[in-house]
Amino acid sequence: MIYADNAATTRLSKTALDAMLPYLTEEYGNPSSLYALGQRAKEGIEAARATIARCIGAAPGEIWFTSGGSEADNQALRSAAAIGARQGKRHLISTAFEHHAVLHTLEQLEGEGFEVTLLDVHENGIVTPEQVAAAIRPDTALVSVMYANNEIGTIQPIAAIGAVCRERGVLFHTDAVQAAGHLPINVVTQNIDLLSLSAHKFHGPKGIGVLYARRGVPLRPLICGGAQERGKRGGTENVAAIAGMAAALDAACAGMEQNAKKLTALRDRLIEGLERIPYGQLNGDRQRRLPGNVNFCFEGIEGESMLLLLDDAGICASSGSACTSGSLDPSHVLLAIGRPHEVAHGSLRLTLGEDADEEMVDEIIRAVTGTVTQLRGMSPFWRDLETGRRTHVFAK
Ligand SMILES: *Cc1c(COP(=O)(O)O)cnc(C)c1O
Repeated sequence: MIYADNAATTRLSKTALDAMLPYLTEEYGNPSSLYALGQRAKEGIEAARATIARCIGAAPGEIWFTSGGSEADNQALRSAAAIGARQGKRHLISTAFEHHAVLHTLEQLEGEGFEVTLLDVHENGIVTPEQVAAAIRPDTALVSVMYANNEIGTIQPIAAIGAVCRERGVLFHTDAVQAAGHLPINVVTQNIDLLSLSAHKFHGPKGIGVLYARRGVPLRPLICGGAQERGKRGGTENVAAIAGMAAALDAACAGMEQNAKKLTALRDRLIEGLERIPYGQLNGDRQRRLPGNVNFCFEGIEGESMLLLLDDAGICASSGSACTSGSLDPSHVLLAIGRPHEVAHGSLRLTLGEDADEEMVDEIIRAVTGTVTQLRGMSPFWRDLETGRRTHVFAK
């Protein structure tokens, strides 16, 4: 099997598993308990907090554990909105291609009386600091721009955007879920007030994440209960997952430079191979994208059919389209970069992991090329393009 869907989730690393096992076996104490067994669990949590803080240039007291990236995004936005509302600021700025954890929270906040501006991301999938500066108003409470997009992998100039926000006195949140372990993160030099991470995107376990909140930015609890996480998130901590996440992030950051170099070369080989397929196009900026991310649209193809055929060929990939989640709408990300509906449905995302090599990439190229040819051969839509009854969107 070829696993080329590392943006969806990653394999748990041996390092992470080893860090988790003690807390799933002998060290099962509740971290809130006062006896030694409980206190060792508590120490495990605090060691993990310190490791994660070090990886992103934060202080341990600025690290808050959540159930994952979605919860971190929800809590970041709700906290910033609450801070803003107290000062009479009810305007929020974000982008059209954020993760749904951000977009749907913003929709809820709109229903609660906030005003939301979603910035355009251009055809290259990149927002500029100038756009952010132009959108900021005296009543703006928050700017939320993701570090790297989860579908097309494009990297945003977050340090410069953060600088604009700092200068104008506006809180800046970044969803760094896709960036962590692939791109450098330093919350101080990048002017970040709030940042979201999710362990399962960097070879940690699922169901655990981090919200970084700069000192002085008070969080609003989403889950009320005990005094865990200094009262900002009730519920007994998932000690094993926290320990696994810290070990995974530490390893990912240590190997980042080397992995990024290797993956960038393989990514470019994959892009060059897929560019040989006629009437297809890469989505998102060619250089300013995550090391392992490749995303293409092919005319005359239905994304879901392509995924099923690739699955038969032993390749795990993803389509930008949300059909699998019960909706026939094409990806909001592809629409945001201006792809017309009919080609947005024919998208393919391949995200390589550290196990990738040239042989794997060449096999993916062969399988995708064959699949596109096969599907086009059966498609009435493609026949219309061939006979000139419809016009092509892309060049040959
Ligand atoms: C995966 C992902 C999330 C959600 O993280 P979960 O831990 O699965 O809740 C949020 N934002 C981005 C950019 C993601 O890729």
